[in-house]
Amino acid sequence: MYLFLYNTLTRSKQAFEPADPRRVTMYVCGPTVYNYAHIGNARPAVVFDVLFRLLRHQFGKKHVVYARNFTDVDDKINAAAAEQGVPINTITNKYKAIYRQDMGGLGVLDPSLEPCATDHIPQMINMIERLISNKHAYHVDGHVLFHVPSYNGYGQLSGRNRDDMIAGARVEVAPYKKDPADFVLWKPSTPKQPGWNSPWGRGRPGWHIECSSMIEEHLGETIDIHCGGHDLIFPHHENELAQSSCAHGGATFAQVWMHNGFLTMNKEKMAKSVGNVVAIHELLEKYRGEAIRLALLSAHYRQPLDWSDETILQAWRRLDNLYDFLDSIENVKSTEVDPPTAFTKTLMDDLNTPKALAVLSDMVGPSAVKLASQNPAKAKSELQAAGKLLGILQEKPDTWLRAGPDRDEIQALVDERERARSTKNFSKADEIRSMLTDRKIEVRDRLGSPPRWLRRAATRV
Ligand code: AMP
Ligand code: ZN
Repeated sequence: MYLFLYNTLTRSKQAFEPADPRRVTMYVCGPTVYNYAHIGNARPAVVFDVLFRLLRHQFGKKHVVYARNFTDVDDKINAAAAEQGVPINTITNKYKAIYRQDMGGLGVLDPSLEPCATDHIPQMINMIERLISNKHAYHVDGHVLFHVPSYNGYGQLSGRNRDDMIAGARVEVAPYKKDPADFVLWKPSTPKQPGWNSPWGRGRPGWHIECSSMIEEHLGETIDIHCGGHDLIFPHHENELAQSSCAHGGATFAQVWMHNGFLTMNKEKMAKSVGNVVAIHELLEKYRGEAIRLALLSAHYRQPLDWSDETILQAWRRLDNLYDFLDSIENVKSTEVDPPTAFTKTLMDDLNTPKALAVLSDMVGPSAVKLASQNPAKAKSELQAAGKLLGILQEKPDTWLRAGPDRDEIQALVDERERARSTKNFSKADEIRSMLTDRKIEVRDRLGSPPRWLRRAATRV
């Protein structure tokens, strides 16, 4: 089965063939760590975590190298540090730790590597020197700029023409620029700003060169897949591509470029600048991470995803149904198997997660339940294997469905209702059932064994 991925560069879905199947490389532009990450920022992390899982499934765990960086030097970080009167790493260390915690809460696997920009300043200086020596960059008064007209391929990723590019980048018209589209590789720092010594004086790198250097250092000149949010296509990725390709004598930088669509609220992009952000850690206090994760996967990654509490509740109800099925065969032993082909096929088609979720629902639907009664071990193993590829269903069903501080109290009510039923006190039994329903507890009566109860999409317990 081939993996098909939509490539922003060719604007088409293509069969994915890594340069070396024993070392498949992917890079995701990570967060700028100066503030709490919002749920829009989580979308690329979760979506490309599914890609990472799928690649590991296809090529073997050992054969996939995934780097997701931290941008830990940036003017927004500098501004936050200056405002609080602390060094930048006080800010970046704090928000790196929070980001990792957020990702853990959403079931995102640790990438193979998490390089930080500030650990790669010598590599950036080295790459800039190469770009100057091969005439793709120039130095003026402490600034080093990439000279856009020196690279014929500029614009290939975003498909923008020159005027769009200049307008889109909101480029500064600066006296030291040879061309308005030229962009910064290195810029001078004032004594108060963070800076590093370089052949061009004390300064700091531009954002784009950070990713190019870290990719070169850890993954090589050419990588298989480069990912990020749609807003990074231009200028960030266009500039990364230009720098890396020019530093490597025209070598291909990334075979495949993948970009996720925006998470919106009331159809407007979620962004700090708009002021409509919902922090990941706040959501995690209110809802279970797995429901938030599934909500992020409920739309195809290239489509917009409009976010609301209802998006999470829908995902939650879906998880309730899946765990309910697993709970009904809790005593059956599962084994390690491949997910069913019908399921894997959906992800192999450019990560079609909405279709994958529909297949999951079929796997616990009426006809599946009938099949499961004949071979429950297979049904359970396959459902868990499919869940693992999406990063869900790894909890104990009992925990998902029943854990909570009021567990014993609910159990006591269920037992009491059962006693009422056995003495044919149906009005009392009904009364208790309605109390349980008000608390979003569903009771399943079973022939010959005590009833099974479960919670229905409630807030965090
Ligand atoms: P930033 O920290 O702003 O550089 O963003 C980190 C990642 O989140 C980038 O890949 C952005 O493209 C992505 N991103 C930011 N806002 C959204 C959004 N509303 N929806 C989807 N992705 C986003
Ligand atoms: Zn980047």
